[in-house]
Amino acid sequence: MGLRPALVSILVACASLLPLAVPQIEERSWLAAIVAASLTAAILVWVGGWRRHLLLQWLRNPQAEAPDAVARAWGDVALRIERLQAQSRKDTQRERERLEDFLQAIEASPNGVLLLDAGAQIVWLNTQAADHFGLDPKRDLRQHITNLVRQPAFGRYLQIDDQDQVLSLQTHEGRSLAIQLRHYGEGARLLLSQDVSDRERTEAMRRDFVANVSHEIRTPLAALIGFVESMATLPLQEHERARVLELMRQQSNRMQSLVQDLLTLARLEGSPRPAPDQWWRLGDLLDLVRAEAESLSQGRHQFAWPSTALDVELAGVESEAHSAIANLLSNAVRYTPEQGQISLSVERLPDAGLMIRVSDSGPGIAAEHLPRLTERFYRVDGSRSRATGGTGLGLSIVKHVCQRHGGQLRIESEPGKGSVFSLVWPAVRVR
Ligand code: ADP
Repeated sequence: MGLRPALVSILVACASLLPLAVPQIEERSWLAAIVAASLTAAILVWVGGWRRHLLLQWLRNPQAEAPDAVARAWGDVALRIERLQAQSRKDTQRERERLEDFLQAIEASPNGVLLLDAGAQIVWLNTQAADHFGLDPKRDLRQHITNLVRQPAFGRYLQIDDQDQVLSLQTHEGRSLAIQLRHYGEGARLLLSQDVSDRERTEAMRRDFVANVSHEIRTPLAALIGFVESMATLPLQEHERARVLELMRQQSNRMQSLVQDLLTLARLEGSPRPAPDQWWRLGDLLDLVRAEAESLSQGRHQFAWPSTALDVELAGVESEAHSAIANLLSNAVRYTPEQGQISLSVERLPDAGLMIRVSDSGPGIAAEHLPRLTERFYRVDGSRSRATGGTGLGLSIVKHVCQRHGGQLRIESEPGKGSVFSLVWPAVRVR
């Protein structure tokens, strides 16, 4: 391109030579001056054009070094252009890094982020979004999202303009997603997705818990109301009154046990981990639970207790350990038929921890129930549990106590062969 003005100038110069060939013109010297000036101008223009051409070549390939001709002719200009180019390269690099940082930050988000253009085609998505919608972050770019996420509810949701509306979607893997759409730019949309499966599970557990508690309280309460009405309206004889009062006492006790167990559970869940330096003697605690278990049994069972006086101290909250061991013994007494055997033994473990075992010769528990026994209100035999004053919360409390102290509850049982509940206290809390 730079050559064109130079060529034009040469043509102009040639044209101006024409008068030299015309003899009629007298002022030849005047013409010669014009010709010389035109030639000089043409050469200058041509040389300038050639240098511009070199400069343009170099600008088109800024990575290459500037040719000497360019460097000589343009001097300062070339230097400044070179600096500007270097600056622009640096700016571009910085922008690229910022974009990279930004994308990495979105990538680190626990939520899914997916960008859609005005035609609902996928422009970009992070790994979480790919995971949530079952997409491939590379292969599915530029694809229409509704071709890939085919649930009708999702298609309808994309048509809605209300940005506050949240869509709940079930994935094919059974996960629950909360999806929200935001508009930006010219028709573009940002799709945010969050896995709310855990939150929904917790919410369902909370609902179940409230329903269970209400049910457990309503049953004895309804019985109490019935008894109160009987006493108020029926002309009862003395022995009948005594019987009704005894039943009322049983129902009130049941409600009281339930409220106590609920408070114990709430306390266990809400209080900090027990201090590791509050020591108490295990022997003293076992004397206490032994008296309670024998009183509960009222001579209906045969007990076996550790023979030697225990010289062991445990660290933690003594009242919690009391509640755990008493619960295991109470279960053994309540579920083991008359004349059955119940034993408590204490064993030092190889890792210096301590195991307190409560064994009974009761009915035993089928394998399918074992993993669920520590769930709140889970009962193998509901009527037997309630008839013996059970709340369905005992083993849940025992498990919590063990976990809070860094220990564990182990359950071994087989139908017809009795049960063994072992409470493991960690070595750091035994001396
Ligand atoms: P509950 O108050 O009903 O006894 P728990 O949480 O203490 O509640 O026990 C849960 C269930 O485990 C009981 O309902 C019972 O079915 C079963 N269970 C617990 N201990 C024993 C045991 N020693 N022998 C047989 N079954 C037991």
